[in-house]
Amino acid sequence: MAADPVSLSKRLVNWARLRSPWITLYNSGGCNACDIEILACLIPRFDVERFGILAKGSPRHADILVVTGPVTLKQAPRLRRVWEQIPEPKYVIATGACGAGGGVFQGLYHVVGGVDQVIPVDVFMAGCPPRPDEIINAVVTCLTLMKEDLDHGGRAWRQKGKEDAGKNVIGGTAV
Ligand code: SF4
Repeated sequence: MAADPVSLSKRLVNWARLRSPWITLYNSGGCNACDIEILACLIPRFDVERFGILAKGSPRHADILVVTGPVTLKQAPRLRRVWEQIPEPKYVIATGACGAGGGVFQGLYHVVGGVDQVIPVDVFMAGCPPRPDEIINAVVTCLTLMKEDLDHGGRAWRQKGKEDAGKNVIGGTAV
């Protein structure tokens, strides 16, 4: 039987993506300590390039968006625009306490809150700031999600699972 050229090319792209994810970094209003820890991952001390993880300047080339800090009012539309520029399938890591819910900046007049107030987040990373090993672990978690999604035909299957879970909780109405 002749191989399907489309599915073969897709499988090849997915194979390459899983072995060398490209990340791009966006500071949406943090104190820079998270950024310094991420930079520590990229330099030879922790050297994530040995795992194929590459930092890219353009969101158009990225597979994973790593967001540091809470989201400020000024950064919210810019963060959204950066996220929209990343091609599918794209994944988002929210870094530290700020990324999860605003952290020490929560409640300030110019802060919207955590990253998930503006874009969908796939992985939350604990810490203030997180250690480099936690950052590497978050990228590996993203790769696991990516592989699971691809095995089930795309990212929509995970979202469907969430909707089904919501139906069970609140009596038939999807959340
Ligand atoms: S989580 Fe902590 S280290 Fe990271 S941006 Fe917020 S305050 Fe700074």
